Amino acid sequence: MADSIFLKIINRELPAEIVYEDEHCVAIKDVAPKAPIHLLIIPRKVIPRLSDAQPKDLKLLGHMMLTAGEVARRIGVEDAFRLIVNNGSEAGQTVFHLHLHLLAGKSFSESELGF
Ligand code: AMP
Repeated sequence: MADSIFLKIINRELPAEIVYEDEHCVAIKDVAPKAPIHLLIIPRKVIPRLSDAQPKDLKLLGHMMLTAGEVARRIGVEDAFRLIVNNGSEAGQTVFHLHLHLLAGKSFSESELGF
């Protein structure tokens, strides 16, 4: 299977604005932001969809959540951000390499679930 666009970014084969990285994941700026701050938190390990994750991925999934909090703190939005995972094309997933969308810098209405 061809490498996902995110794997190419992680391997530095494609450019991206990397705002954070550690041994398990990378955070980049979304190329088509849906909010003033729109980051993607991407595990180095390729898991196509959240629903493909396995019990062995438990630590990695937890690490992604902690990374979201850490990145939010670093950029000063720890009091107001939204995390979204699109799982499957019907749910709007376009890149089949698991990622968290971290959105901030605007107010989200209680009823609005999408971006
Ligand atoms: P999803 O639709 O949940 O799979 O999200 C994929 C996201 O990746 C979209 O918000 C795109 O704007 C973003 N995206 C696609 N290609 C790139 C890229 N080369 N660099 C940064 N973000 C990208």
